[in-house]
Amino acid sequence: MKVAVVTGPGAVELRDEQLGPLAPDDLAIGIAACGLCTMERRLFTGEKAIYPVAPGHEAAGHVVEVGTAVRGLPGVAQIGDLVAVDLWDRCGVCRPCRRGRSAVCTRPQGAQLSDGTIAMGAGLADFLHIPARNAYRIDAPVEHAAMGEPVACAVHSVRLSGLHAGDRTAIVGAGYMGRLHLAVARAHGAAPVGLIDVSAERLAQARSAGAGWTSEPDRALEVGGPQDVVFVTAGTAGAVERAVDLVADGGTVVLYGAFPKDLAARIPADAVHHREISVVGVLNQEPEDWRTAAGLISAGTIASDLDALVTARFRLADVGAAFAHATDNPVFRVIVGNRL
Ligand SMILES: [Zn+2]
Ligand SMILES: [Zn+2]
Repeated sequence: MKVAVVTGPGAVELRDEQLGPLAPDDLAIGIAACGLCTMERRLFTGEKAIYPVAPGHEAAGHVVEVGTAVRGLPGVAQIGDLVAVDLWDRCGVCRPCRRGRSAVCTRPQGAQLSDGTIAMGAGLADFLHIPARNAYRIDAPVEHAAMGEPVACAVHSVRLSGLHAGDRTAIVGAGYMGRLHLAVARAHGAAPVGLIDVSAERLAQARSAGAGWTSEPDRALEVGGPQDVVFVTAGTAGAVERAVDLVADGGTVVLYGAFPKDLAARIPADAVHHREISVVGVLNQEPEDWRTAAGLISAGTIASDLDALVTARFRLADVGAAFAHATDNPVFRVIVGNRL
């Protein structure tokens, strides 16, 4: 089978990889589509220089073989089913895993291809073997299923925020993850949901996608008023302080990400105490978020949101062009796959 390997900045090649026999608890998946995330772009630009590496963690595909121990088991995906694939290794035995917080599993992530190449997902491929418990059946177009992982991240973020229907909600950052937060928060009944960004173009796109209001960062409080929940999906300097100013008494600020490693924020401790503000960090997702994400995608509740976020499609043979496109253009998601 073929798997895409980033060998250096700007260099991607398709390598041949031999998959071993299928383990009893595993499924063989014919990958239909895989999204290019920020991690993939950083590897391609050299911002994250770990080479050679086989990335691709937003994969979906059809089951082509079922391990003997899970064959016919109710709830397990069977041959022909479309599944989204959870490629985060949850060891189940470390302290966070035992506390139900496998999003921060402490066992080192990542595997290896047969030639020693680091596998960070290795979903830009035509086949994968995965444990059956990591496959979530989805009844939707394959490119929606390939958004299972980032949708599960947004679901996790919304769950940890404690958001309730009717909560006034603001999202800082109208890029891909901001837009998925918009879709998932609305699906959970948040209203109104405002989007905050420096780009007028992204704000206009967010309005067409159902944002109740939009604003540039400095005017958000004036435009949207106090917010019960504020998600920060664009971790720029000053974003956390502005989110704390924007959140209502008793509300929650979620730090979703991408913060520069050395960015510090000054939060007034007495205001957090007196106003009962919660500040919550979010990294990725957990199995219950995957189940919710698979349900939302299959129900079609966020279908038009997801359609609007597919920027371009490339075949696996053109994976290099896909990386270049995702790096050189403002994109939401570039999807790679042979069965789009
Ligand atoms: Zn991702
Ligand atoms: Zn663990």
